Amino acid sequence: MSKSYDVVVIGAGPAGYVAAIRAAQLGLKTACVDRWINKQGEPALGGTCLNVGCIPSKALLESSEHYHELLHGLGEHGISAKSVGIDVPKMIARKDKIVSDLTGGIKQLFKANKIDWVQGAGRLLTGKQVEVTPNGADQPSETLEAGAVILATGSRPVDIPAARINRDRIVDSTGALELTEVPKRLGVIGAGVIGIELGSVWRRLGSEVILLEAQDDFLPLADAQIARESLRQFKKQGLDIRLGARVTSTKATAKQVALTYQDKNGDHKLIFDKLIVAVGRRPNSDNLWAPDVELLTDESGFVHVDDQCRSTLPDIYAVGDLVRGPMLAHKGSEEGAAVAEIIAGQATELNHDTIPSVIYTAPEIAWVGKTEEDLKAAGIDYRIGTFPFAANGRARAMEQAAGMVKIIADAKTDRILGGHIVGPMASELIAEIVLAMEFRASSEDIARTIHAHPTLSESLHEAALAVDGRALHRA
Ligand code: FAD
Ligand code: NAD
Repeated sequence: MSKSYDVVVIGAGPAGYVAAIRAAQLGLKTACVDRWINKQGEPALGGTCLNVGCIPSKALLESSEHYHELLHGLGEHGISAKSVGIDVPKMIARKDKIVSDLTGGIKQLFKANKIDWVQGAGRLLTGKQVEVTPNGADQPSETLEAGAVILATGSRPVDIPAARINRDRIVDSTGALELTEVPKRLGVIGAGVIGIELGSVWRRLGSEVILLEAQDDFLPLADAQIARESLRQFKKQGLDIRLGARVTSTKATAKQVALTYQDKNGDHKLIFDKLIVAVGRRPNSDNLWAPDVELLTDESGFVHVDDQCRSTLPDIYAVGDLVRGPMLAHKGSEEGAAVAEIIAGQATELNHDTIPSVIYTAPEIAWVGKTEEDLKAAGIDYRIGTFPFAANGRARAMEQAAGMVKIIADAKTDRILGGHIVGPMASELIAEIVLAMEFRASSEDIARTIHAHPTLSESLHEAALAVDGRALHRA
C-alpha cells in the first residue's frame, strides 16, 4: 500500500527543506524526497547550497582571505609574519566538516519536525502521486500519495561544448571546491558570481587567474557604477578579467589545458593547469514528471509558476532555482515557506522586489531593488546619494576603505528604490536597505535614523543624507 501525505516535497535544498519544515510546523504530514549523494557516498540533505554551493564556497573564501591578509594585508597595521604556510587539504577538510555539520543539522531538524526523508529520485505522476526510485539500484520503487506536491529540484551547472568537464583539468564549481593544491595558472570561463568568487579564492591562495567573460559588460545585473568600481578593485588585486572573450576550444592533457578564445582583437591561445567552467546554471526539470503530466515550462526548462509559486496544475507548486527569478538560496527558502503556508490555508506574501544579491568577494558587492539603469529605462525620475568608504572612520580603522554606498530614491516621493554597495561587509550592510524598502521607507527615514559611531553603517546614513545633498563628512 502506498504511503499518503498532506505534502510531498521533491528536493531538499534550501527551497525544499524549508518548505518541508514550514509545512510540518503547520501540522501537515510531510515527506521530502531527495537523491543527493555526498562526496563520502552517503545521502545528504541541504542540496546544492549546503553541499557544493553557498556554504563550502564561503568557507573557502574565509580561509583564503585570512591567508591573503596575513601575506599582504597586515603590513599597514605594523604586523609581519614569517614562514606563512598553507595546507590546502586541511583547508578543504575544514570546509567539509562545516558542510557535514550543517547537512547533519538539517537531518536533526527533519527528525524534530517528524518529516519523512525519502532517499531517492522523485518523479511526479498524475493524480498528485510521486514515484520514488531509491538510490540503491536493487531496491524497488515506491509511490507516495500527496495532498499537494512541491517541486524543489534546484539546478545544475551549464556545460558548454567548447570546454567539457574532465575531472582532472576542467572542472565545474563543485570541482573548484575540491582542488588539492594551488594551481599555478588557473583559467575561469565566465566572470559571473561563481567565477569571481571562486577565482578570488584561488587567486588569494597564489594562482595566476584569468577570467574569460563572453559579454562586454562586467556584472550586467549590478548597478553599472558599482560594477565599474568592483572591476577596478578586482583588477588591482591581480584578477585578469577579459571581457568580450568567447572560448572556442579547449584541449586537456594529463598536465595542462590548452584553450583558445576570440575577442575583438582576434584569436588567442592560453595554457592553464586547471580550468573552471562557471557559465551559469540550469533547472533540474528533466524527467521530473511522467509524460502524461501536463506541466508548463519555459523554453529553458524553468517550471512556469505564478507570483505565489503555483504551477499550471492544481496543488502542484514549484520553488527555488527550478522557477523564474534569481538563483539564490534565500529566494528559494522564502518561496518554500510561503508555499507551505498557502497549502495550510494561510495568507502569505512574497516580495520579489526586495531580494538582496550578494557577491562574497573582497570587497563584497551587495544590492537590492532597482539600479540606475533600470530606472532610466523605465523613465522614472530619481535622486542619488553616494558615500565612499574612504571617508568612513571604521572602514579606515579596518584598512578596508575601498568602495562606496549608493542609495537611489524616487525624485517625487523620496521612497527608496534601490541600494548598492561595494565595500567591507556589504553582505551585512545591505540588510538595512532591504528592511527600509520592506517598510517603504524614504531616504529621509534613514537620514533621520541614528547610526552608531564608528560603524560601517554610517556610510548608509551619509549616502541617505547625500540624496538630499547634505552628507556631513563629504566636501
Ligand atoms: P538545490 O539547492 O539545487 O537543491 C535541489 C535538491 O533537489 C538537491 O538536493 C537535489 O539532489 C534534489 N533533486 C534534484 N532532482 C531530484 C529528483 N528528481 N528527485 C529527488 N531529488 C532531486 N546562493 C546564495 O543565495 N548565496 C550564495 O552565497 C550562493 N553561493 C553559491 C555558490 C556556488 C558555488 C553555487 C553552485 C551556488 C551558490 N548559490 C548561492 C546558489 C544556491 O546554491 C542556489 O540558489 C540554491 O541552492 C537553490 O536552492 P534549491 O533548493 O532551489 O535547489
Ligand atoms: P552567472 O550567470 O552569474 O555568470 C555566468 C557568466 O558566464 C555570465 O557572466 C555569462 O555571460 C558568462 N558566460 C556564459 N557563457 C559563456 C561562455 N561560453 N564563455 C564565457 N562566458 C560565458 O552564473 P554562475 O556564476 O555560474 O552562477 C550560477 C548561479 O548561482 C547564479 O545565478 C547565482 O545567482 C548563483 N550563485 C550565487 C552566489 C551568491 O549569491 N553569492 C554565488 C554563486 C552562485
